[in-house]
Amino acid sequence: MFKRQTLIAWLTLAAISLMPFSALAQTQIKYHSNKYSVQDDIKLGRQAAQEAESQFPLLRDETVRSYVENVGRRLVAGIPSEFQHPEFQYSFKVVNARDINAFALPGGPMYVNRGMIEAARTEGEMAGVMAHEISHVALRHGTAQASKGQKYSILGGIAGIAGTILGGPGVGQLAQAPFAVYLLKFSREYETEADILGAQIMAQAGYDPRDLANMFQTIERQGGGGGGFLSDHPSSSDRYARINREAQYLRVNNSGYRDTRDFARIQERLRGYGTAPTMAEIQRSGQRNPVGEQTGNENYPNNPPSGRVSYPSSRYQSVSIFNGGVNVSVPSNWRQVNEGSAVWFVPEGAYGQSNGQAVYTHGASFGVAQSNSRNLQSATQELVNNFAQGNNNLRTSGGYSRTSLDGRTALITTLTNTNEATGRPEIIRLITTQLRNGQLFYMVAVAPQNERGFESAFNQIMRSVRIND
Ligand SMILES: [Zn+2]
Repeated sequence: MFKRQTLIAWLTLAAISLMPFSALAQTQIKYHSNKYSVQDDIKLGRQAAQEAESQFPLLRDETVRSYVENVGRRLVAGIPSEFQHPEFQYSFKVVNARDINAFALPGGPMYVNRGMIEAARTEGEMAGVMAHEISHVALRHGTAQASKGQKYSILGGIAGIAGTILGGPGVGQLAQAPFAVYLLKFSREYETEADILGAQIMAQAGYDPRDLANMFQTIERQGGGGGGFLSDHPSSSDRYARINREAQYLRVNNSGYRDTRDFARIQERLRGYGTAPTMAEIQRSGQRNPVGEQTGNENYPNNPPSGRVSYPSSRYQSVSIFNGGVNVSVPSNWRQVNEGSAVWFVPEGAYGQSNGQAVYTHGASFGVAQSNSRNLQSATQELVNNFAQGNNNLRTSGGYSRTSLDGRTALITTLTNTNEATGRPEIIRLITTQLRNGQLFYMVAVAPQNERGFESAFNQIMRSVRIND
């Protein structure tokens, strides 16, 4: 495929030397007028990224992440110089979601769904979508669209509650625009530009630009309409043809050897994780996290937890979680870690990752789950079944007992498990109660079976819970 491309490129070059340049040259793209500064793009993207990471579970697999980042770096290096902003910080993370999608935020943060990597037939196809998204960023489409007074439309966010995340000095008028972190819907014109620049970036980075067009077909074949890339990026034969037409004028830069087996290895690795949840399932599993300074994502350790931890401090600090919906007191030597839609409070050494999954050995977590049942016991059973998915060692031990949480009827369920990181048996206590809107609020307390020192801390935390619904 690359050989044929090279031939076309040579023929094109030969033709260019014989014909008026403009007739056969690649399409020139220009910036749209933009009221915002490059710094605004960076600031907006940073806020949106924080929001995104509180809503989407990231795949904690350093091998996969660094692979995607390498592809991303290669593409970024292929951005034409007039669209390079040295201030932008392109970053690449993988979202553990099945939907075939990817999105990039102003100033550079990019998120690639695991489903996108799994669906692509080649690295080039995956790179195609990334190059398209990078092009929106490089062309500053987000703020350009806002400059025209058009809103960033909210495409459902993950929970339909993608909030207004803008504000603060320097952002100005944008602060009033509803802004979805999930996906920005751009005009047809912007989409075409991102396709064309994407194709140019692909060629410069050594990929066949037609793989961007091919990816549309791959997504279509997989029925990737609903919720996926195509719902925000309507495919059409026009579009496919337009990319391929542009590709004729592009010379693929073939310098640098790439091992195409890397992509197969990464897909193989992802298959080992079983099926990722869909965005809709992630949404149903709970409400989004608050965005706070204590978000653990930044400093989340790559290594498994040691399980060697200090005893809970006798001093407690009061913390507000779920946007003030819940207050709770936790030992002052524990820190907050936001994991997907749940909030954990853990001592140092008690959390880390194993096989790409977050693992905790000691600590308490809180979450809100959507339930099909108004009956507390069956709603709790649903949640336990959810937890048990992909967790073969999890067993309920004994039945439910009644307790109370902030004066409400609650159930306490005891589960046993083998800790994924340490291999030690552990006890998990699950306390559930219903919120006014019918959602299930839960607390999970986990500690190794033979460590008794945490019992009283868990009881004290449970007694401190105040729910403001
Ligand atoms: Zn697009």
